[in-house]
Amino acid sequence: MNETRQRYVYGFAEGDMDHKDLLGGKGANLAEMTNLGLPVPPGFTISTEACRRFLTDGKEPPGLAEEIGEHLKRLESARGMRLGAADNPMLVSVRSGAKYSMPGMMETVLDIGLNDASVDGLAAAAGDERFAWDSYRRLVQMFGATVLGIDPGEFATALDEVKRSRGVAGDDGLDAAALREVVAAYKRIVREATGRDFPQDPREQLDMAVRAVFSSWNIERARVYRAREHIPHDLGTAVNVMSMVFGNLGPDSGTGVAFTRDPATGAPGVYGDYLANAQGEDVVAGTRTPVPLQELERIDPASFEELLGVMSVLEGHYRDLCDVEFTIERGKLWMLQTRVGKRTAAAAFRLAVQFLDDGLIDVKTALGRVTGEQLVQLMFPQFDPHSDGEPIANGVPASPGAAVGAAVFDSAAATRHEGPVILVRRETSPDDLPGIIAAEGVLTSRGGKTSHAAVVARGMGKTCVVGTDTLEVDAEERRFTAPDGTVVREGDLISIDGTTGAVYAGAIEVVPSAVVEYFEGRLDADERHLDPVLQAVARMMVYADEHRRLGVHANADTPADAARARQFGAEGIGLCRTEHMFLGERRHHVEELILAESAAEQDKVLAELLPMQLGDFVGIFAAMDGLPVTIRLIDPPLHEFLPDFTDLSVKVALAEERGAVDGGDVRLLQAVRRLHEQNPMLGLRGVRLGLVVPGLVAMQVRAIAEAAAARIRAGGDPRPEIMVPLIGGPEEFELMREEIQRVLDDVAETAGFAISAKIGTMIELPRAALTAGRIAERAEFFSFGTNDLTQTTWGFSRDDVEGSFFPVYFEKGIFAASPFESLDEVGVGRLVSIAVDEGRAVRPDLAIGVCGEHGGDPSSVRFFDRVGLDYVSCSPFRVPVARLEAGRAAVAAKAGPDARPRAAKR
Ligand code: ADP
Ligand code: MG
Ligand code: MG
Repeated sequence: MNETRQRYVYGFAEGDMDHKDLLGGKGANLAEMTNLGLPVPPGFTISTEACRRFLTDGKEPPGLAEEIGEHLKRLESARGMRLGAADNPMLVSVRSGAKYSMPGMMETVLDIGLNDASVDGLAAAAGDERFAWDSYRRLVQMFGATVLGIDPGEFATALDEVKRSRGVAGDDGLDAAALREVVAAYKRIVREATGRDFPQDPREQLDMAVRAVFSSWNIERARVYRAREHIPHDLGTAVNVMSMVFGNLGPDSGTGVAFTRDPATGAPGVYGDYLANAQGEDVVAGTRTPVPLQELERIDPASFEELLGVMSVLEGHYRDLCDVEFTIERGKLWMLQTRVGKRTAAAAFRLAVQFLDDGLIDVKTALGRVTGEQLVQLMFPQFDPHSDGEPIANGVPASPGAAVGAAVFDSAAATRHEGPVILVRRETSPDDLPGIIAAEGVLTSRGGKTSHAAVVARGMGKTCVVGTDTLEVDAEERRFTAPDGTVVREGDLISIDGTTGAVYAGAIEVVPSAVVEYFEGRLDADERHLDPVLQAVARMMVYADEHRRLGVHANADTPADAARARQFGAEGIGLCRTEHMFLGERRHHVEELILAESAAEQDKVLAELLPMQLGDFVGIFAAMDGLPVTIRLIDPPLHEFLPDFTDLSVKVALAEERGAVDGGDVRLLQAVRRLHEQNPMLGLRGVRLGLVVPGLVAMQVRAIAEAAAARIRAGGDPRPEIMVPLIGGPEEFELMREEIQRVLDDVAETAGFAISAKIGTMIELPRAALTAGRIAERAEFFSFGTNDLTQTTWGFSRDDVEGSFFPVYFEKGIFAASPFESLDEVGVGRLVSIAVDEGRAVRPDLAIGVCGEHGGDPSSVRFFDRVGLDYVSCSPFRVPVARLEAGRAAVAAKAGPDARPRAAKR
């Protein structure tokens, strides 16, 4: 005998919850419950390894059949019964169960072991003929559909015929004789469809069911589910063989599902559904309506008490919200499944603090139980929870938020329609872009979370629901039809919920997020204390702040934004863009600057711009008093400040025709033509512009320095930091730095006191990252511009690629997430690491941050913590998310390498 022969089968008492890889989630948790001494029907688990072998080889691995035989024998002697025996037969269920829960995606067969002889044995043992024949017809039906692949509709039709002939409405109205007739009809269906009789050998039934469960790993809906949830396709499923217990043995029997606390709201107290005289799948099938779990207290107080006890044991053991499946067989409780339960974002926060207060977990574990993504969900406006609207359909929630508007069916209608609209399409393409921009939200009947509509809507922060495949969208007829027959025509109001995927006819009231109102300080103490979700969020934020190492700054360009960022907890401004200071009414100054023919003319324009910029900076320094304000010098391409080339050409051409040419326009047109660029993103911008247009940077720095001097005189504490954009290496930086320093010294001398401002640079070109050591010789800080760094590392321009080929890249699996949303850790992240390491090697106290929107993305924040950045900076709205994730990253980092966040590609 080969001692090292691979083992594939484990009794429930042999496993535990740490072996989900091998036993699947269901099997591992059944083992855990068995070892806790809870009432679990005995059984065994066939490992995922056996499934993988079966799927690659196309047949059961050698030895599996014998091993199943041995475990079956043990099971039979434990129960004192034999599988499918003519006298008092044991029956089993054959249940799928993968490492990650894939609810309802794969197959399960109940009542294996029944045949023409054992059905009588079961009837005699239970003293209930009707029950035995009902179980037999369930077996033939389930086995026929899932193992033999027969259309379930055929069984339904046969059942309906018998019901009609007996004049009864529900299955429960059929007596034993009628059910015998049903079984006979079902067996005829099996013979006709497969050319052989329904298998009578119990072991053969078992083997066929096991094989069917293995194969169900690869059925279409399971594959689609895995793709959507990023579950690898090569894990395989385990198979659990469990001795049957019967909830359909009369009114003192039943079956149910329960949660140890409410998974929707996080409210304490058990929550669930119970259905008397029913077998497991009846609860979900919806043929009869279950009653609330609390009813069980009246129906069967002893079992109810025992169930509560079991649930409290499970909570204490798993230290988390658990859900369970249970069955009561003639007053005896059996536990059939448990797992740590899924929950809403609101529930996640409430549960984390409840378990903390119950002493079951510590603060670090509590932080691990809430995510930045969940906080984001709580920060979007929501549909009024008190509204009683019922969804007419449910799709895939692709971009959160609550949107209300008139349904429109193409891009043209979206842009034409007055007032808010929801763009409804089967799917979207780049041609729909104007419509998406004009719409409040997007609804599609096809596609998943990475479809064109989903990607574009998320990028724009628009609410989006996709893959609502129960809706029939008819763009030509300009209407869609819901499964309940509701027809929505162009112009009719609809509401879509991008957080849940729900679609409503009519307008549902939208309320602002209470969490945002809380962060903004708009709620009084009473309102705060009454809302348990707010209480929980507030506490988790305190814990995150206590633990985090990363600072969190905000990107803010105006005093108003700066003040808002501070309310959200920002500890400074990581990126203050100065572009808007040249736009709007001030734009003509820039035109004049470009057209100026002499140094004197240029100086005059700059002198006009100076006081305006100065005023802006005074306001921002006041709002951020005592905190660092990192100001980026002018960055965008010059042509953005000039009139459109085509418009101006037309204007000049028309004027020439009339013989009334304006000399100013002609000169402007020449300038625009001269500055026209094919690829402005890669053209004259950033530091290049500062070096080419003399005086511009000097004026900006003077405004910053004089604003700081003014604040100091007023008793304030301004902390300006001046940041040079888009350098490719040390040479450009050094030229700029010298000029900045000269102006600072000059202003300080006039003021008569020191004005300190750090001078640093953005690292947003690969060459800057690769020469970071030399740049750090003179730069006092780095700030990664990860948006430009992503564009230039990948060599694509965001505006051009996101709507066009990104969806294809998602489909092909090249991206798991957009590199503009979650930092591409292996590529762009490597440049970040190089620059951090080489910069710090030269200047150990180099301050390093990131100011791209990645600074507010949960998985990217974890990466920035890991590579040792000092702070992240993001939009004010994202500041709380970054604070929370920075806290989580800090405790995860201490927990060791297993807790490392996922790689760029999952
Ligand atoms: P799913 O993963 O889709 O929930 P399950 O394997 O849990 O599928 O089984 C489907 C239903 O059958 C569940 O309600 C479960 O509780 C019930 N069930 C499974 N095995 C047994 C058994 N041995 N005795 C009684 N009911 C069972
Ligand atoms: Mg289940
Ligand atoms: Mg940039």
